Amino acid sequence: MASTLTERLSRLVKTVRGQARITESNVQDMLREVRMALLEADVALPVVRDFIQRVKDKALGQEVVGSLNPGQVLVSIVHKELAATMGEGVADLNLAAQPPAIILMAGLQGAGKTTTTAKLAKHLIEKRKKKVLTVSADVYRPAAIEQLKTVTAQAGAEWFASTPDQKPRDIALAALDWAKRHYFDVLLVDTAGRLAIDEALMAEIRDLHATLRPVETLFVVDAMQGQDAINTARAFKEALPLTGIVLTKLDGDARGGAALSVRQVTGAPIKFAGVSEKIDGLEVFDADRHAGRVLGMGDIVALVEEVTKGVDLAAAQKLAEKVKSGSGFDLNDFLAQLGQMKKMGGLGQLMDKLPTHLAAKAGQADLNRAEKDMRRMEGILSAMTAKERAHPALLLDGKSKASRKRRIAQGAGVQVQEVNRVLNQFEQMQTMMKKMKGGGLFKMMKRMGG
Ligand code: GDP
Repeated sequence: MASTLTERLSRLVKTVRGQARITESNVQDMLREVRMALLEADVALPVVRDFIQRVKDKALGQEVVGSLNPGQVLVSIVHKELAATMGEGVADLNLAAQPPAIILMAGLQGAGKTTTTAKLAKHLIEKRKKKVLTVSADVYRPAAIEQLKTVTAQAGAEWFASTPDQKPRDIALAALDWAKRHYFDVLLVDTAGRLAIDEALMAEIRDLHATLRPVETLFVVDAMQGQDAINTARAFKEALPLTGIVLTKLDGDARGGAALSVRQVTGAPIKFAGVSEKIDGLEVFDADRHAGRVLGMGDIVALVEEVTKGVDLAAAQKLAEKVKSGSGFDLNDFLAQLGQMKKMGGLGQLMDKLPTHLAAKAGQADLNRAEKDMRRMEGILSAMTAKERAHPALLLDGKSKASRKRRIAQGAGVQVQEVNRVLNQFEQMQTMMKKMKGGGLFKMMKRMGG
């Protein structure tokens, strides 16, 4: 994995620290790093050039405010410009047509057209309460017709039968007629793809477009296609008036630079992102989050700032010294640590700063549970006496530990097991602290503070 843009800029920042504004001389090196990062994220070269120019125009002369340094200011300009380039706001499907609204799917073979057709059917049924019909005009691969049948059933939509001996245009007209007579709201037309652009394929899809006059013509493109995406996009843009883009396979390793190239070349909004092979693996595209991904896995700068803002470095040092001097980490310190977490804005705040795929892994349910756990722990620690907190041994192996724990449990409104659990966690923490003896924690925090 290439180093993130933020890491690269941080290295440079050392040389430009202390400068109050972004100037021609300090911006050059930084822009070179931005350029490398974009190329590594598979953004096409001409798109990168344009982009860098725009960022430079915006950045030059910018004042560097407060605790930020020029590198951080530049990252934030790049982030904003990336998000703006990839589209702002949410662009949902346009269904403003005499029913049925026709959606034509275009793209290379393997891009994910058939899968996306079914995902969209599901989206339209569930989110917009539409009656949806799908049809395949791919007469070259009988398996493609069967595949659409299967995934359409999974989506809970209806499928219109077609056979390889028909002409694509006849299939489309028959499906349209059926959709009209059976009051479908939306007709999704899956089309043939080839492994590479060829004129016959383009002529065929142009003909389908002219015949159907769809309200949406969606270009489906594989994010893993990287640099090639720009050529494919250009060919489809020349053949068809595209109204939107679906970027598939964003769950893969691709840094998603294709989004920028495709958007720039077609001028069409990126409407959806495919994030798994499964039928529900479709998300409305979020340019802001995606910008973070292109930049290198989330805006770590924002995360670091958030984390260090609430941290009291003096308190951290005192704690480190306490550990070092051998007086030990007690329950008072444990309680203080929870307080620090709260000051940082809680877990939710931090999660918002993480890259999408990491945040998705943790999930809202886990987050709610963790926040609740934190509040409960705080309640239990507060129910202890100051003496108990300063001398955890009273609770861990003191003679009256059972009655003390019962009293604490009652005070906090929890079961005794919960008190034991907190004490276990405390002991684990204490072990960790012993390992960090020598100021490890303080060093770690200082490093984060930059
Ligand atoms: P088509 O030839 O354009 O119709 O492409 P398909 O719909 O058959 O998809 C090609 C392959 O890509 C299949 O194996 C799909 O399961 C897979 N695929 C499609 N979209 C996604 C996605 O968003 N994520 C992942 N991981 N795989 C996808």
